[in-house]
Amino acid sequence: MISFLDLKAINQQYREELIEACTKVIDSGWYIQGQECSLFEKEFSLYCGTEYTVGVANGLDALTLIIRAYKEMGIFNNGDEIIVPANTYIASILAISENGLIPVLVEPDINTYLLDEKRIEESLTMKTKAILVVHLYGQTCNMGAFNKLGKKYNLKIIEDSAQSHGASFDDRKAGNLGDASGFSFYPGKNLGALGDGGAVTSNDKTLIDTIRILGNYGSSKKYENHYKGVNSRLDEIQASMLRVKLRYLDDEIKHRRKIAEYYCLHIKNEHVVLPIIKDKSRHVWHLFVVSVKNRKEFQDYLLKHGIQTLIHYPIPPHKQNAYKDFNNLKFPITEKIHNEIISLPISGIMDFNDVKHIVKIVNDFN
Ligand SMILES: *Cc1c(COP(=O)(O)O)cnc(C)c1O
Repeated sequence: MISFLDLKAINQQYREELIEACTKVIDSGWYIQGQECSLFEKEFSLYCGTEYTVGVANGLDALTLIIRAYKEMGIFNNGDEIIVPANTYIASILAISENGLIPVLVEPDINTYLLDEKRIEESLTMKTKAILVVHLYGQTCNMGAFNKLGKKYNLKIIEDSAQSHGASFDDRKAGNLGDASGFSFYPGKNLGALGDGGAVTSNDKTLIDTIRILGNYGSSKKYENHYKGVNSRLDEIQASMLRVKLRYLDDEIKHRRKIAEYYCLHIKNEHVVLPIIKDKSRHVWHLFVVSVKNRKEFQDYLLKHGIQTLIHYPIPPHKQNAYKDFNNLKFPITEKIHNEIISLPISGIMDFNDVKHIVKIVNDFN
């Protein structure tokens, strides 16, 4: 069986270094808000090209805290609207509604699965304060267009970079393509911790300082509280794991790109629509998503031949129980995407014999 993602094998590559890093934290006696987190923040800023990084507990918190901080800074208010792609992972949308703002869902481009810049202007109202661009599957959005819209209409451009560590647009990395960016280090992401983790990157010092305070009960000085904050911090053990794995991220991305290139060149089946890569974007292939009309048949067929696949995602956010108010909205492109997409195995460690086997089996599907 070729598994969708072999997390154990991925982390085994760095076993010795991970144990050493973990041991160092255990022996230091310091487990929260110490050296490892602040070193990781510096190293991740260098990697992304931003001035600042603040570690938080997970990716959802990263996005939620960006919006919360803009509220505390007087830039967003309850009831304001944020534009977000209708086909994103639900966390992007939860971060908006959790803050008492309104997610305005917009259809993606059918070919790239990314937020469609041509549909933004028709969705703007007097209450629109931001666009939450999601670099879905590892490909950056058309940031030239989004930053232009941001300037023209005075909107904050917030990136959801949870699937796109190391991806770039026009030689700038995800995390440094808008006003602020949220990252997830969930174990299955391209840069994954051995537990939960997240970060916000930005060049805005006020925003970063506000997030740091909000994530620490609203306090910058012990027992003095500026805000009704939350507890959302990146702990020392996870930061130390991430420092090890960050050193190998570019090698893993290189391997993912080789696999994706092989899939794109060699998968030849009229039923299988391959992903489209945009000009200025350098994809990091968190997921290799193809589109197949007879998806159920295709998935069963692959499984019968020992190939595990997943669907990202089977139910669009506006059809979820959690968003009952949205259940009657119509997003035909999003719904078509959710009915037809399927993710083939890809990772920073996958064996090329497996890749070749998958291509052969996919090509034989009819
Ligand atoms: C994983 C993910 C998140 C949430 O990250 P967590 O660390 O799991 O909270 C947010 N947005 C997208 C697009 C994701 O893929």
